[in-house]
Amino acid sequence: MISVNLPKEVISVQNFVGGQWVKGSGQKGEVISPYNHEVIGEFYNSTSQDVEAAVKLAVKAQKDWANTPIKERTKVMFNFRNILLRDQEAIAHLKSAESGKTFSEGLAGLMKGIEVLEYAISLQNLDLGGKLEVSRGVQCEYRREALGIVANITPFNFPAMVPMWTIPIALTLGNAYIWKPSEKTPLTSLKIANALKEAGLPDGLFSVIQGGREAVEAIIDHPSIKAIGFVGSTKIAKLVYERGSQHGKRVLALGGAKNHIVLLPDANLDLSGMGISDSFTGCAGQRCMAASVLLAVGDVDKHIQKIIERASSLKLGQDMGAIITKEQVEFLKNAIDRAEKAGAKVLLDGRKAKAPAGFEGGHWIGPTILDNIQPGSEAASVELFGPVISIVRCKDITEAMAIENSVDYGNACSVFTSSGIHAERVIREASTGMVGVNIGVPVPREPFSFGGINASKFGHGDITGQHSLDFWSNVKKITLKWEKQVDSNWMS
Ligand code: NAD
Repeated sequence: MISVNLPKEVISVQNFVGGQWVKGSGQKGEVISPYNHEVIGEFYNSTSQDVEAAVKLAVKAQKDWANTPIKERTKVMFNFRNILLRDQEAIAHLKSAESGKTFSEGLAGLMKGIEVLEYAISLQNLDLGGKLEVSRGVQCEYRREALGIVANITPFNFPAMVPMWTIPIALTLGNAYIWKPSEKTPLTSLKIANALKEAGLPDGLFSVIQGGREAVEAIIDHPSIKAIGFVGSTKIAKLVYERGSQHGKRVLALGGAKNHIVLLPDANLDLSGMGISDSFTGCAGQRCMAASVLLAVGDVDKHIQKIIERASSLKLGQDMGAIITKEQVEFLKNAIDRAEKAGAKVLLDGRKAKAPAGFEGGHWIGPTILDNIQPGSEAASVELFGPVISIVRCKDITEAMAIENSVDYGNACSVFTSSGIHAERVIREASTGMVGVNIGVPVPREPFSFGGINASKFGHGDITGQHSLDFWSNVKKITLKWEKQVDSNWMS
């Protein structure tokens, strides 16, 4: 049995433009469920014509929206939250059916998105601007203003959470928003757009443009779209960043990852066994915060045994989901073969895992633990994006941190230890934007911002939390003098 209800009929999702679902003008595409490799949805790709239609309707809607007081904009977000909570189970099933997540992972992702929505709702009380008398009779003030029309391009692996990182904040700040979901997981956009409409968001402010590269390029190149958010692989993040920057746009493009966990002999056995196993197997390893390399410092064999025990107890389809495509399963199996040929010891072999009964056609691989991996090898430095962890043996923390620092990516690093001094050293030396101590998936919770560094992020600022506000808005600086005070000029 699997934990997810798959759709009984093929679901058709279109573009959402001007508050209506309309057919994209490009080729038809199919949505295939990783659970059984069957078609569960269809959509039409979009072209520049479709992007133009969305922009046209967004222009007027955005001006009115930006002139609406933030407390009124926030009311719509309150309604949006209530609708998402009401429909949480249906959304979690749909997003899991198209992305391969388990039901509980689908629900957890939605809840994290709702947490961002709650942060956006709190902006009316948190983000108050500022005003001060800076010299006699002279006041300085700052006000946050919307950018206009903004866009966001998202990956397959979090069909609701990643878009929800930006939708609530960008809309609450007064922007119109165009979303281009992954063509592999477009169905969740049905639920999100319908929820925003039901919440009372004026038509035109929120658009969904389905498709792939052509739609993305049309969005980046459109002169009326002022800012581009992107989350996906490093290769495409860099392309999007460079193309958008050439147009003089602000772009924040989050890329891939190769996250390290430093495991020290003084780590709590149960905490590390569970934390590390869950980190590399959660979402079947298809998350940018998944543990990918285990830097095993000194004698940690007892800890590794715990990780093996927990990972090997997971049942496919119930505790661990499926892989997005058949090709990706083949890539993972071949990468494990290559590591084995290069001398790796396979402590747990997911290549032989059994598919859940009745779902043999799906995209399955079990948790895989590779030992004796060499630093710099494929298994130690390339993002595999599956439930595979590579153990690199290290004699001390110095060696472990040198290996961590040698990888281009910079999303997350964690340490498992009971020593504050060792933890502090890893926090300081990690070449990543996010660090965990005895936490395998160190995702910051709101209002703390999410974002990596190095090849995991192109652009400035973070995608959520307080460090995202300046990305989705302009800060206008005002200097005022109303009093007729001739004894001092504005600088005095
Ligand atoms: P992807 O880069 O293939 O696709 C992401 C988006 O880019 C999709 O909407 C896709 O349609 C679009 N796209 C694909 N090719 C394009 C092209 N040539 N030109 C323009 N647009 C194009 O990524 P994916 O496979 O959907 O997602 C997995 C990747 O995302 C992993 O690398 C993962 O680490 C990363 N990711 C990063 C974060 C983060 O916060 N850093 C979060 C989630 C996922």
